[in-house]
Amino acid sequence: VTVRPASTVLVDTAAATMAENGEPYGLVDDAALVITGGAISWVGPRRDLVTPPGAEVRSLGGRLVTPGLIDCHTHLVFGGDRSGEFERRLAGAGYAEIAAAGGGIRSTVRATREASGDQLLAAARQRLDRIHRSGASTVEVKSGYGLDLETELRMLEVGRRLGVETPVEVTTTLLAAHVVPDEYGDDPDGYVRLIVEQILPRAVEDGLVDAVDAFCEHLAFTPSQVDAVFTAAAAHRLPVKLHAGQLSADEGVDIAVSHHALSADHLEHATEAQVAAMAQAGTVAVLLPGATHTLGETARPPVEAMRRHGVAMALATDCNPGTSPVADLALVVNLGAVLLGLSLEEALVGVTRNAAMALGLDDRGTLQPGKRADLAVWDVDRPAEIGYWVGMGLCSSVWVGGVPSFDRDAGNGG
Ligand SMILES: [Zn+2]
Repeated sequence: VTVRPASTVLVDTAAATMAENGEPYGLVDDAALVITGGAISWVGPRRDLVTPPGAEVRSLGGRLVTPGLIDCHTHLVFGGDRSGEFERRLAGAGYAEIAAAGGGIRSTVRATREASGDQLLAAARQRLDRIHRSGASTVEVKSGYGLDLETELRMLEVGRRLGVETPVEVTTTLLAAHVVPDEYGDDPDGYVRLIVEQILPRAVEDGLVDAVDAFCEHLAFTPSQVDAVFTAAAAHRLPVKLHAGQLSADEGVDIAVSHHALSADHLEHATEAQVAAMAQAGTVAVLLPGATHTLGETARPPVEAMRRHGVAMALATDCNPGTSPVADLALVVNLGAVLLGLSLEEALVGVTRNAAMALGLDDRGTLQPGKRADLAVWDVDRPAEIGYWVGMGLCSSVWVGGVPSFDRDAGNGG
């Protein structure tokens, strides 16, 4: 039996706390952190440290520590992959041609319905592990490739199992309103009734869902159909978030705001008035540069307007087989800066403090007393390096709830 010390003290580090303490990145040079009972009990300059009696003192060897990163928008549970479709698209094939060849989201729905829970878990686990090793301690996972009662529940169960069977904190979001399944092609309202009357109540009853999401788009669901799904979510006291404004300006953002959504996501075509309304409602803008990169998309979310109106901006991988096969949050920090025009500090806030807000989690996202001791340790001197280097794999360890889940240099992580 290993007796765990009452407290752990981390020294020989600089802490990018991401708290609003007047310093860029909330930086504390030559910092110390005290972890007690899975939470941060003290953080500050080392010279002010009072080491608690019996504490274990650990050196971080001069590395930078940040809050554990938070991936607040992923679709990482799915069957198959769409690399063949990616090849065809790069060779010049259009949307209709790819759909005719059996590609597109429908191919993922088919493969996901055919996969067992264990198969989905094994594939998702591999992707989750990569996101974790890129610095993440909390990852949101959506359903949305089942589009029937049985498979939507299976996807959410896989999400819950990922949270239990890996060190990562996983939150699950029901996205049954992703697209209208083929069997309801002539009756989208009938599918919305299936969600509201069967899928959502069962997911709630089985304890599988933390939030509800939908895709508001002419190819998916109308604002009034999204409104029906969100009204049902509110009856179950579940928070909502929305894919909105990705392909065209639509009323999606307005529906999200009217339901006090935690976040509106994508937003490439959001208008200035919608951005102002988001600021008013406290709805976070979740921006997904992996999709911009993969699709060669030219439209950009209105970052300058978001800044001006004080909308909190978060970034996420959007890990999914069709439009963002991305499983690295440090890369997303780089893409958010290079492609979307965020500063490196805004981008890092976007995968920490603001990502926590996008999930409605106020116990993480900064290094401050009382927050969970979720940490990422980096082989860098300055926080800007996290979004500067590309493909360097600079995260050397992640701590979740005060426990190191892997330490690359200790050789226990493979
Ligand atoms: Zn998405």
